[in-house]
Amino acid sequence: MRLLIFLILLYLGWRALKKWMATHIEQGPKTFYEPERQIDDIMVKDPFCGVYFPKKTGVSLKINGETLYFCSRECQEHYLSGKEPSNK
Ligand SMILES: [Zn+2]
Repeated sequence: MRLLIFLILLYLGWRALKKWMATHIEQGPKTFYEPERQIDDIMVKDPFCGVYFPKKTGVSLKINGETLYFCSRECQEHYLSGKEPSNK
């Protein structure tokens, strides 16, 4: 009977130790998981010239809360000067 109690205590102690190790060691290697890298590789359409390009190579522009992506800064400027009304 004593042996059983000893084993239970040993088991609980081992579990506590494992939990302690998990909380103290599991702080750090979270940084090398980069979900944004995958998002950057999405192909987006330039709303000005209609060309598809990887999001990360484009120029982003925020208009009225939504983000638009252009293949180049020139397209962004053309879009702003041509399509976007200035009276806002
Ligand atoms: Zn373009």
